[in-house]
Amino acid sequence: MADRKTLVAGNWKMNGRRDDGLALARAIAERATAQHTCELLVCPPATLIVPVGEVLAGSDVALGGQDCHAAASGAFTGSISAEMLRDAGCSHVIVGHSERRHGLGESDADIQAKALAARRAGLVAIVCVGETRAEREARVAISVVAAQLAGSVPEGAAADTLVIAYEPVWAIGTGLTPTNADITEMHAAIRGHIPAGTRILYGGSVNPKNAAEILALPEVDGALVGGASLKAEDFWAIARAAG
Ligand code: PEP
Repeated sequence: MADRKTLVAGNWKMNGRRDDGLALARAIAERATAQHTCELLVCPPATLIVPVGEVLAGSDVALGGQDCHAAASGAFTGSISAEMLRDAGCSHVIVGHSERRHGLGESDADIQAKALAARRAGLVAIVCVGETRAEREARVAISVVAAQLAGSVPEGAAADTLVIAYEPVWAIGTGLTPTNADITEMHAAIRGHIPAGTRILYGGSVNPKNAAEILALPEVDGALVGGASLKAEDFWAIARAAG
């Protein structure tokens, strides 16, 4: 879409030790410095945010967190605040990933509080939504996602501080993807619930083979990539497909 710059974001999840994480970041930064036409973002595990940020410095590849706490600071053992992410060099944070919604029981209200924290800290919140396999089969996918948006996107959100990632739970890490018609239908439905100009990424088993087709669909403004973001050449092939 002309006025919504394509964003390709890599979610490394709980993968990468220092050596391989930094090598991956270096490989992405080198390619991105040579040529890129879309916005690129990598979200390493918390242990690698600072060193990856050092590797990416000057490369135009943005840095993000995979989650944040709603509070700015305090007695929350094991958590990281949006302010801390910002301080560590992040510009974005993923909130509401299905591995946290479904795996850790986070509610829409939890995710909305995190998205508000992101705004408070000056971060772009990437709010993830998506239906389960059972919900798709029951033909309630669109209403489920609409309810997630209503509950998770804060009042007063704006296109410059919000990105939506539509990630069907059953497509994440499975090699399965919805049909092009289903992605198009869902993204068009999401568009009706979010501020004008907000980018909507598709996520769920995006790889170098299917990226060009998915990224060319109407209302798809980029991709949130899990597994394929762990190999520089695959992530780069997806970024090129976006260009
Ligand atoms: C994700 O975890 O956000 C994701 C889309 O994973 P994958 O690309 O591996 O399906």
